[in-house]
Amino acid sequence: MPYVHDTLERLRKSSPAQTEFYQAAEEVLECLRPLFQHSPHYLDHSIIERIVEPERQIMFRICWTDDAGKVQVNKGYRVQFNSALGPYKGGLRFHPSVTSGTIKFLGFEQIFKNALTGLPIGGGKGGSDFDPKGRSDGEIMRFCQAFMAELYRHIGPTTDVPAGDIGVGGREIGYLYGQYKRLTGRYEGVLTGKGLDWGGSIGRKEATGYGAVYFAQNMLEARGKTLEGKTCLVSGAGNVAIYTIEKLYEMGARPITCSDSRGTLHDPRGIDLDLLKELKEVKRASLEAYLEHHSEASYIPVGEYPEDGHAVWRIKADAAFPCATQNELTAGDAEVLLKNGITCISEGANMPSTADAVDRFLEARIAYGPGKAANAGGVATSQLEMAQNSSMEQWPLEKVDAKLKEIMANIHQQCADTAEEFGEPTNLVLGANIAGFRKVADAMIDQGVV
Ligand code: GLU
Repeated sequence: MPYVHDTLERLRKSSPAQTEFYQAAEEVLECLRPLFQHSPHYLDHSIIERIVEPERQIMFRICWTDDAGKVQVNKGYRVQFNSALGPYKGGLRFHPSVTSGTIKFLGFEQIFKNALTGLPIGGGKGGSDFDPKGRSDGEIMRFCQAFMAELYRHIGPTTDVPAGDIGVGGREIGYLYGQYKRLTGRYEGVLTGKGLDWGGSIGRKEATGYGAVYFAQNMLEARGKTLEGKTCLVSGAGNVAIYTIEKLYEMGARPITCSDSRGTLHDPRGIDLDLLKELKEVKRASLEAYLEHHSEASYIPVGEYPEDGHAVWRIKADAAFPCATQNELTAGDAEVLLKNGITCISEGANMPSTADAVDRFLEARIAYGPGKAANAGGVATSQLEMAQNSSMEQWPLEKVDAKLKEIMANIHQQCADTAEEFGEPTNLVLGANIAGFRKVADAMIDQGVV
């Protein structure tokens, strides 16, 4: 279909040097080919030209003073990608690798992810190339305040509601929220992932990881299997990885790995979750410190990773949960995982598998849950936080968790039903992309040319 190809070509020319964004756009648009054959009216409305263009992109300068008194300068971004389904919703990422292309890819994925939750939220994303690593609390606070000094004018509880992502957790949301309140004088649900005493939702911190495990369980149940007794690989050591590990234990599985920017930890007896939380949530230390407590574990530093991939995926296991970052799982990794008999992959991170790796998983017809479906539990629970804020309530854990489970089961069902409808019942990538797109596209058509 020349139409899809031409749109992608135009994107490459009009938005140069945004490789991750082209990767995300290509995956979605390629999946839509059968939909356009079946429902050509989407082409008449120029929906794909419109959906790949953000409604608005904000770029700004952030100046702040470090502990040595030196003025530091960073770039800040907020992409308000699509508001057909509701206010822009999506996290903020603070990482030195962040460019406008990174934020665009994340914002684009967020549109379809948010649509799959079935909740009234549009897609947005933001962040900065600020590197929080090694920074003192005071520096983090001053950076967050400087970031919000510009962002506050573009966001609001019914227009655009940011949250966390890589490098932005409870501490950063606190500083961002404090500054928003100082500047506007308003105490309102303008950010999600807040502390439990000041407007946060019980269960939000755990939701992305728990949701990715529920999604894996949904995929396995559809195949008459469960997670019980399964050995699992997890990458990452942030919020998503930690709560994926926690839920895997609750499901009777054994998570044996995690990783950070310096290396991979392998504990064949199962990761010591309390120690991991202590190291990462309290001490903000390297995973290498784990070995001081568990000599039977091993640690593979980044320098010893295979040339064509990541050490974590070379360890034999039944299921894998990529929970670190984009493109952390290559075609080489996918081949080793499949050779080692992997049966289930559920993505806690956004676009963690390269396009070639995804092709390998789809060819092998294993249970593969792409990030925009499998990790949607985080943003879904953020929307539950918005609902609690606007009604001035706080729901108990049982209510939030029951809703999260139901939302994940619905997402799985929608993806599976749509995949079936288009004749590829095991292809949840196709299912997720078509189901997400259809919702947004229908809303855009209903709302006219805006
Ligand atoms: N950053 C998360 C994501 O990728 C959460 C976004 C949110 O809670 O708004 O979906």
